[in-house]
Amino acid sequence: MDSENKPPDADARRDIPPVICYPIETLPKPDLQLYQSARLAAGKVEAMTVPPRDARCITVPAGHFLRIESVGGPQVGDLNLFHATNLNERFYSGKTRALHGTHVTVSDRLWSSFPYLRPIATITDDSLHWYGIDEFGGSVHDVIGTRCDPYTGRLLSRVDYHHCCHSNLTRALADYTGLSLSDAEAQVHDVLNVFMCTGFTRDTGQYFMKASPVRPGDYIEFFAEIDLLAVLSACPGGDCSAEHSNDNAACFPLLMEVYEPAKNSLASWMPPMPNGYDGSHGKVGG
Ligand SMILES: [Zn+2]
Repeated sequence: MDSENKPPDADARRDIPPVICYPIETLPKPDLQLYQSARLAAGKVEAMTVPPRDARCITVPAGHFLRIESVGGPQVGDLNLFHATNLNERFYSGKTRALHGTHVTVSDRLWSSFPYLRPIATITDDSLHWYGIDEFGGSVHDVIGTRCDPYTGRLLSRVDYHHCCHSNLTRALADYTGLSLSDAEAQVHDVLNVFMCTGFTRDTGQYFMKASPVRPGDYIEFFAEIDLLAVLSACPGGDCSAEHSNDNAACFPLLMEVYEPAKNSLASWMPPMPNGYDGSHGKVGG
């Protein structure tokens, strides 16, 4: 830091208290009680095991629940969400972070890209909710990280590794949709890091990870507000305690399950409409 250029009122400027960028009090609140009571009587209609260092797709109809569960050993997952029939509407990690903070848990919502910007999923249950924020500033289920990818791996280690989450998600999406690999890659986006424990160091502000507290049987559940295509990668980092982007970590599968509520248990629920902004961007005369 250049102390020579420090202005005389530097301390006073630093002492200004922060304000929350996006207070969310005006957002419509999800009816968690309704969702959670509907979940009690919901039945499993589909299940998919995601192999380690690979990814799989599953469709979650609107009004159904997606459960992601740890099986076999501590493992983090990188999740992409799309509108099931319109891949242009997809999970928007950055705006979700701006609205709900760096990590998400029960009652937080996952928001979609412009121009839709609506809640596409609501977190209804999280067995790691107890973790909170640890002494390092770490917490679980982050919307900070982008996903491990072969390009950054190449930059940092000069090695081509083909089972980063970015590549796993790309292959899975291509296989499921019939898109070419390059078209599928263009749809893959910043993820929700399921079960991953991360934060920023206080001294350098760097993104850190530490061993995930997840254990077999732990889970997170989402209510699908719209028809969703979920793509989940079992990260090559395993529990992300040491490294990723290579085959060194112990890796385990992840389980995805879809639950269908009983008829009429969501009678008062309405799917959210796409964002109401008129799209003119101030241009007069179209
Ligand atoms: Zn990864």
